[in-house]
Amino acid sequence: MDQVRTPVPVAPVAVSVRRHRPDVARVVEGAGITGGDESPEGPLRDRYGRVHDDLRISVTDRCNLRCVYCMPEEGMTFLPHGQLLSFEEIERVARVARELGVRAIRLTGGEPLVRRDVVDLVARLKRLGFEDIAMTTNATRLAGLAPALAAAGLTRVNISCDSLRPERFAALRRRGDLSTVLHAMDVAEECGLAPLKVNVVLLRGRNDDEILDFAGFARDTGRIVRFIEFMPLDAQGEWGPEQLVRGREVFERIHAVWPLEEVPEPDRVAPAVRFRFVDGRGEIGLISTVSEPFCGTCNRLRLTADGSIRNCLFSDDEHVVRDILRSRGTDEEIAAVLRRAVWAKFPGHAINEPDFLRPHRSMSMIGG
Ligand code: SAM
Ligand code: SF4
Repeated sequence: MDQVRTPVPVAPVAVSVRRHRPDVARVVEGAGITGGDESPEGPLRDRYGRVHDDLRISVTDRCNLRCVYCMPEEGMTFLPHGQLLSFEEIERVARVARELGVRAIRLTGGEPLVRRDVVDLVARLKRLGFEDIAMTTNATRLAGLAPALAAAGLTRVNISCDSLRPERFAALRRRGDLSTVLHAMDVAEECGLAPLKVNVVLLRGRNDDEILDFAGFARDTGRIVRFIEFMPLDAQGEWGPEQLVRGREVFERIHAVWPLEEVPEPDRVAPAVRFRFVDGRGEIGLISTVSEPFCGTCNRLRLTADGSIRNCLFSDDEHVVRDILRSRGTDEEIAAVLRRAVWAKFPGHAINEPDFLRPHRSMSMIGG
């Protein structure tokens, strides 16, 4: 894979960092930087030069599925409804973020489509002038909602689908069924929610024998299949490196059958490295968060369903905005929280460090 990768001009390099815990002194190795400041005026730039213009909004931590890599089958506890931000509150944070240069929004969760009236939220965000409003969804409820979502201003969807075999799909996601999800993909495209991306989390021994099937699916449908490395963010804490299927291996297995070439993106900020088939039939993406971190170009901020700003999936560093929203705080105070969150961001995650500690909140609680 290295031979075809174009070096990305990045300001900082994701290097060794101290553990992502608030109780660990915020001293970045080699830089001697201490926390407690905020980014200056202008766009949301962190101390390593990364500009943050992409906000991921978790609209709920609840979900109607129980994917094996995300949640336990039983016993998941969810936030009380009163702790969730209202749509008015989300809209306000988004408006302030927009004024600070955020251009793209992704709605996620949990499952965003289990939150009632989410179409209304899309319409509110659209009115704020965002160029790109996307959603990541399990698609179990998408077919019925896609026309209204598109009309409200949703621009595209990423649909999670980890197997093209019905029994295996059911085993991996524990609820829901494959045919509903495949049908939703068709409907989404008919509604103009394109390009459609399909997220596949690979687990060693469970679905890695479908890598070529998914590559063939990408070639046949024109949908962009993105292979995601399993991250230590499952709520049950069962992640282990032996379950990891590295992006490099995915590339090699597909490339041996259908040659691939990297799609040049000199200013790439997206987590996926894009590859197209040399014969012109389709594209795949590799999200190799664990084996090849892309922290050096990360432009993302997250708003959790209960109103905290997180600057990294793997960091427990959270900056609460809900209290400001609920105590008649000003927009300037909200902006200050966004700036502080960005300024406090580490140069990279530390998954591969021996002293890496899993974040307290799992993927569905943060908003993946
Ligand atoms: N429920 C929606 C869905 O599944 O698409 C949106 C939320 S989900 C947390 C967002 C994405 O995170 C999905 O593509 C899902 O497959 C992925 N994901 C969840 N847990 C993961 C993990 N432990 N490692 C890697 N990806 C994970
Ligand atoms: Fe639900 Fe998405 Fe997590 Fe699966 S990955 S359990 S669909 S939040």
